[in-house]
Amino acid sequence: MRAIRRFTVRTVLPAELAPLGELVQNLRWSWHPETMDLFAEVDPEVWERVEHDPVALLGAVSAERLRALAQDRRFLRRLADAADDLREYMTAPRWYQTLEDAPAAVGYFSPEYGIAAALPQYSGGLGILAGDHLKAASDLGVPILGVGLLYRHGYFTQSLSPEGWQQEHYPSLDPGGLPLTLLKEEDGSPARIRISLPGGTGLHAQIWVAQVGRIPLLLLDSDVADNDTTARDVTDRLYGGGGDHRLLQELLLGIGGVRAIRAYCRITGHPEPQVFHTNEGHAGFLGLERIRELTEARLSFDEALEAVRAGTVFTTHTPVPAGIDRFPADMIARQFGGDNAWPTVPVDRVLALGAEPDSGDGEKAVFNMAVMGMRLAQRVNGVSVLHGEVSRGMFQGLWPGFDLSEIPIGSITNGVHAPTWVGREVMELAGRELPTIVERAQGWEGVQKLSDGDLWTIRGQLRANLVTEARKRLRRSWRQRGASDAELTWTDEALSPDVLTIGFARRVPSYKRLTLMLRDPERLRGLLLDPVKPVQIVIAGKAHPADEGGKKLIQQIIKFADMEDVRHRIVFLPDYDMTVGQLLVQGCDVWMNNPLRPLEACGTSGMKAALNGGLNLSIRDGWWDEWFDGNNGWAIPTADGVSDPERRDELEASALYDLIEREVADRFYDRAADGLPRRWLEMVKHTLSSLGPKVLAGRMLRDYVVELYSPAAGAAKALSGDGYAQAKAFAAWKLRVSQAWPAVRVEHVETAGIGDTPELGAAMEVNATIALGELSPDDVEVQAAYGRVGQHDELIEPNHVKLTVGSLDDDGHATFTGVIPLDRTGAFGYSVRVVPFHPLMASPAELGLIAVPEEPAGMTNGTLR
Ligand SMILES: *Cc1c(COP(=O)(O)O)cnc(C)c1O
Repeated sequence: MRAIRRFTVRTVLPAELAPLGELVQNLRWSWHPETMDLFAEVDPEVWERVEHDPVALLGAVSAERLRALAQDRRFLRRLADAADDLREYMTAPRWYQTLEDAPAAVGYFSPEYGIAAALPQYSGGLGILAGDHLKAASDLGVPILGVGLLYRHGYFTQSLSPEGWQQEHYPSLDPGGLPLTLLKEEDGSPARIRISLPGGTGLHAQIWVAQVGRIPLLLLDSDVADNDTTARDVTDRLYGGGGDHRLLQELLLGIGGVRAIRAYCRITGHPEPQVFHTNEGHAGFLGLERIRELTEARLSFDEALEAVRAGTVFTTHTPVPAGIDRFPADMIARQFGGDNAWPTVPVDRVLALGAEPDSGDGEKAVFNMAVMGMRLAQRVNGVSVLHGEVSRGMFQGLWPGFDLSEIPIGSITNGVHAPTWVGREVMELAGRELPTIVERAQGWEGVQKLSDGDLWTIRGQLRANLVTEARKRLRRSWRQRGASDAELTWTDEALSPDVLTIGFARRVPSYKRLTLMLRDPERLRGLLLDPVKPVQIVIAGKAHPADEGGKKLIQQIIKFADMEDVRHRIVFLPDYDMTVGQLLVQGCDVWMNNPLRPLEACGTSGMKAALNGGLNLSIRDGWWDEWFDGNNGWAIPTADGVSDPERRDELEASALYDLIEREVADRFYDRAADGLPRRWLEMVKHTLSSLGPKVLAGRMLRDYVVELYSPAAGAAKALSGDGYAQAKAFAAWKLRVSQAWPAVRVEHVETAGIGDTPELGAAMEVNATIALGELSPDDVEVQAAYGRVGQHDELIEPNHVKLTVGSLDDDGHATFTGVIPLDRTGAFGYSVRVVPFHPLMASPAELGLIAVPEEPAGMTNGTLR
């Protein structure tokens, strides 16, 4: 019989052990091994049984044991030390506190968070990144307020059928059994937010607070009695359900999230965020809610839009079209129009924000959350240099007339939180030998001084841990698939602690090509069974529940790994989660990644491996395109110009086998007289010293603060001061410029000063006559663009020089002049363009307005000598 309701009865700790409760409630334990040691001491046997989940530990440990601990002087002393350490961590000034003019708080919105395996609220890279973002913010003292949803069934756990088909299970999570506290009003009642839905119903939610070190993470939960069944189920699963369900989740995250922040700040006195960061499109409605707030405080829609944009940062995370969130426009119209409309926010303005430049209207019209994200944020970034470039191409349509390089999408490359991902053994060696790296994240060149022997011993320990744990999991998985213990003695010998170990773990969308390694099964078999230089492969990954194709790929891998002759050398570990991830990135010698370039926006698992002394073997995509330097791992040559996908896979797989056979295995097994693989360890050290400082989430956080959060806070402050005077002026200016723009024209361009045969080093004077219509010369910037020209007279990566205004006549014609340096030989060209100018613009492309000569390319002056 099934229970109709479940809940967790919390242990009442004896007064002496009260600090234990505080330690458990702050998720800092998930990256602080000393606190975990203390938990283990509470009851080592129970600690193992609950798989290192501290809340479960407190629920399971006997009252008798707790009474004994309450009398144990030594334990109480250690407990007091740990509690002091946490208090000091929570309050001491850190990097952020040394900055001037940094925002008082930043709201960070994400649909998923990977903080710890014990809080399964993530599906993959996006969530793990969000978790690492919060943890690094905590370590650096960045005052972020996180916002997300609390999924009552989280993401699924994975097991396998006897045929190797993925099985999904959705465990019921009870917030009472998780490290969460309910946000309450002063009178003790739970704080609530409500969103109105069409038809007069409402969506209510309560707010759970997860304390991630110094960072509060607010998680909205719709499973409350005020809601009808549909509304209660809004936060049932991560990425479950169809369009309606997803829209409700996103309304709750964006709109509800802002309301939750307001409630939290009102109740706790936490400062209000000056900057809002939208981590991927899902949370984009937060901008609409903030526009509503401001329009109800008497700003016009356009004025509110400017004020909101200035303080919003949007990060796009995927170049895969299927990864972009889109809704039918009429669904959005139902939510924000009719009897459910907000009186001060016209529905047509809402629809315009999410309209794709080239999608139709009527029934086929789509509302694109990424596009809305870009229109609601003055600052937009991708997550690696290459991804920034790809995103500029993908969204170029939003800024017609501008060159690719000027599309206002920058990039900040992702990073990973070392204390979460780096093996304790490595941390301890580093702490002993290289304290500056651990304490101040610098001094990476010191890695070269590590002894080869120490390094190799630790790599061996981490590999051995992986092998031991993989055998356990392999046996458990086979038992679940129906095998008996008697048939499974082989699992005790599966994998070897001495064999070159390659890891491959990730979600299984098709672009990640889980099965590329199976392209030529005989070659793979040869690598695995090589009598002298064998390799072993450990694989993990979940397919999205609705992705039959992905499940087939997993099954193909399982079928191969099930074969008797290779099953000791290639294993699939079910249920890829943070625990499996940690095990793999720490224990593998080589981290393999073979996405279809350029579809991997960044990728972070390879960074985790690198920090543990693993070497990357990867297609040059995402972060690896940026930081592969020829000596810190291997680049699998990509055939990304080849249009036939089969042929492309064939070429890339073959290059992969070649690399493993000729370079990777060769280097790993090349041992000196003392048994150490010197050339391998040289590469490990180079990996650590070259990548270490770059791949850290702390570096990423600093970049966000300096490049995005602080400028956004500055812009938001400038616009909001004096009753939003600047927001009003800026909105009025934009309107005036947009209306007058059709009359702006480049009428005439002349040059002087170079004669018939232009030579290198000459200076060319440019005079342009511009029709400004109703605008004044101060409203625009006139630029000469110049540089190399291509075959069709197009300027290639042009330079720009600002022209200065000369005369202005009564008809609105102005002359502008300037000098172009002829600084390169060969085909040279120039042109003139006019863009709007205002000191509050973050990029010349911001308004999407530009005027160029009717004859688009500038004259080419022949060839320079
Ligand atoms: C790091 C990590 C990811 C993301 O890794 P990618 O390299 O971006 O695929 C996904 N899932 C888990 C459990 C992780 O630890």
